[in-house]
Amino acid sequence: MRPDDWSEMLAAGTGKIGEWEQHWPEIDADESLAVAPEVSLAVLDELAEALRDNYPFFHPSYAGQMLKPPHPVAAAAYAMAQRINPNAHALDGGQATARLELEVVRALSTMCGFPAETSLGHLTSSGTIANLEALWVSREIHPEKGIAYSEAAHYTHERMCQVLRVQGHTIPATEAGRMDLDALESSLATGTIGTIVATAGTTSVGAVDQIDEIVRLARRHGARVHIDAAYGGFFRLLAEGSAPLLRPETRAALAAMSEADSIVIDPHKHGLQSYGCGSVLFRDSSVGRFYRHDSPYTYFTSDELHLGEISLECSRAGAAAAALWATLRVLPLEAHQGIGAILRKTRLAALRWSELLREDAQWRLVVDPDLDIIAFYALPEDGSRTTSAVSTLTQRVFTDLMHAPPEQQLFLATLRANRQLLHSHELQWDTDDLLVFRSVLMKPEHLRMVDEFHQRLVSARGAG
Ligand SMILES: *Cc1c(COP(=O)(O)O)cnc(C)c1O
Repeated sequence: MRPDDWSEMLAAGTGKIGEWEQHWPEIDADESLAVAPEVSLAVLDELAEALRDNYPFFHPSYAGQMLKPPHPVAAAAYAMAQRINPNAHALDGGQATARLELEVVRALSTMCGFPAETSLGHLTSSGTIANLEALWVSREIHPEKGIAYSEAAHYTHERMCQVLRVQGHTIPATEAGRMDLDALESSLATGTIGTIVATAGTTSVGAVDQIDEIVRLARRHGARVHIDAAYGGFFRLLAEGSAPLLRPETRAALAAMSEADSIVIDPHKHGLQSYGCGSVLFRDSSVGRFYRHDSPYTYFTSDELHLGEISLECSRAGAAAAALWATLRVLPLEAHQGIGAILRKTRLAALRWSELLREDAQWRLVVDPDLDIIAFYALPEDGSRTTSAVSTLTQRVFTDLMHAPPEQQLFLATLRANRQLLHSHELQWDTDDLLVFRSVLMKPEHLRMVDEFHQRLVSARGAG
């Protein structure tokens, strides 16, 4: 894709909306809204200057956090719908985008293996809100019971339990970063757990909890299963097929997503969307009963279901549905093309870099990656194995790489890894945790970059 495809598509798309607007009599905008073009342009210049204070998220050299710009098709589609600015909360606020939302939610549900006719779901502003919604439904179903999540789960679950006034139970994680099933079973045996939150792709190292095993335990103890697949949900596309890129236990876990009661997936992470696009999916549409409200200002002009009737949020950008819909038309939810083809490359990038790190005696991989996130650290040259010395080295190399000249530059993230995760590593612990590198390889271009990345890493370590 050429860089100017972006503005070309933006101009073509918004031009079409301009044509639509011309079906109505011409209007002169009120003078209170009038701003001289040179004034607007000057402000945009000022803004462009201010926005330079960002890391280059668009560039393959940025491999730090879960961040990348939306696909140009998503951006153009968003701008088109945004010009109309439909609101997803009621059909009268925008029938077109409501229809598109139903279509993309169905596609997401199908990807998860939920039955299309009997499942229910909608887009949300974020994964956090989507998780809140799922946990709220869980609380309504098991009002007397608590919610269990792994210590490696996103911090939102503990916080949302507080918001919902539900007892939260933290289950320890294993050295693979996954929920410890023995600890979960003991917790379930107390009879106080109503819902288990399993994570498909932890924020720290991208670990996938053993959803298949968790579902089995949950059924035995009458608990619900919610899957926080905000990051890793799309990897379900790679769970099947004859040339597996995922580990057998990851494939089994992702395959079992279909047996969960609710799932959260963030299209604004691996779905090529701009922020403001999460989703929550329920296997059983009867949970819609919990959302009933009698709003005097929600307009009911049809018997069709309004998205606002099955959503905790009220106003929400219809443009988000338009952007996701257009994106999935060009890059469908398929295993070998579209989104699946992208994820194959990001996963291969993680496998390749892991291999380079494993072969290099100076480096250590924290865990074998389940998805496309890797965590690693360098050993100090003086032979020291104290966690303080390793952490200091991580910090030094991290900063040097970020400030290197463009050809040598590499933007990574750091992570405070705990003892449990590093249980089998030969380290002398003189700090509470170990500062390690974390890299989210979520761009397909990363596959052809990782060998070069490793070289940059090696020279930065040696340059101290
Ligand atoms: C990103 C993420 C969240 C939070 O979602 P937001 O869209 O950032 O609100 C929750 N859980 C997991 C596993 C995530 O990766």
